Amino acid sequence: MKKVKVILSIIVLVLTLVGCGEESSHAHESLGEYFADTKNHWVLCSCGEKINHEEHSLEEEYCGVCEFYISYDEFSEVTYVEKYDENLNLISQDIYDDETKLEENTFEYIIDEGGNILNEKCYNFGEIKYEYEYKYNEEGIYSSIITEYTEDGKTITTYNEEYDKTLEKVYDKDGNLIQDDRYEYICDDEGRTIEEKVYSFDVLVNVTKYTTIEFEDGYETYSSYVAEYYENDGSLETYYNEYGSLVREVRTKEDGSVEYDYIYEYIYNDNGDIVNYKKLSGNEIIEEYIYNIDENGITVSYQIYRLGKLVEEATISVGEDGWPYISEVIEYTEETKKVTTYNESGEIVSEETYDKDGNLIV
Ligand SMILES: [Zn+2]
Ligand SMILES: [Zn+2]
Repeated sequence: MKKVKVILSIIVLVLTLVGCGEESSHAHESLGEYFADTKNHWVLCSCGEKINHEEHSLEEEYCGVCEFYISYDEFSEVTYVEKYDENLNLISQDIYDDETKLEENTFEYIIDEGGNILNEKCYNFGEIKYEYEYKYNEEGIYSSIITEYTEDGKTITTYNEEYDKTLEKVYDKDGNLIQDDRYEYICDDEGRTIEEKVYSFDVLVNVTKYTTIEFEDGYETYSSYVAEYYENDGSLETYYNEYGSLVREVRTKEDGSVEYDYIYEYIYNDNGDIVNYKKLSGNEIIEEYIYNIDENGITVSYQIYRLGKLVEEATISVGEDGWPYISEVIEYTEETKKVTTYNESGEIVSEETYDKDGNLIV
């Protein structure tokens, strides 16, 4: 028993000599700068030991001792430990999930004589995460280039004075340019964008036109026309009304011939609900939907016609939860009529098929 005790005390003695236990031979000296986590702050001694290790003394979210801000974000359930420089620019930001450090962001700035930030770089655990380049005019910041870095490479996005995207270039991790989009804008006298063109590797791929409706108390802009150009496969042009509904669709083949040109017509009731929808090719009605809406504005049934023939009709009921559901669908073919009923959960309750004389066959 005595022997064991002796060995133990030798071990303890050795550990004391190896550790930062030279407490007797050196008074810890602070290297000045405070470090912080979600709960505590400390400074480091030149020997590497944490000293002045104590809890933050928070007022609101600010600790006056270490000068870090500690804030909990209830939405994403993480804690931010942040520090700002004398110009109130964020210089470090650690993000914690409980005690686990998820991100360790540090920031570098290039600032002009007027105090404007020209360049901002963010590093996460020492790896570059993004770089912003800012430009200014009399009205303030007017242009920036954003470079975002991921494991797969980087994306460089350039914006103009109107904050519209003008360039988007994506590089893979070997530095190969894999996406090269250029955006062009045409504005009206009011400075509103009326047309946007997108080029991919200098080839036009998309045109969007915008239409503005003026109201007494303002205006609303919607995209009224979109053209998509396909590589060696012609184009698709689509036109929209102010409700966002498709009104015309033109498919043009590579040789310039028109594959189809559909017109879509809508009739709205006083509530703005569609009561009739038609798809036409020339004068021919390809498809027509008739919606029957009751005095409460609830759709109670609809019919679908194709090339003038009734192909489907449905009854809509209101469930116990107050929500409408399709309770019966009747599908017509040349030879048959199939009646399917559904419950509120959308499950089939019954299914019956009749021949053209009305005899039940299935
Ligand atoms: Zn020390
Ligand atoms: Zn503190």
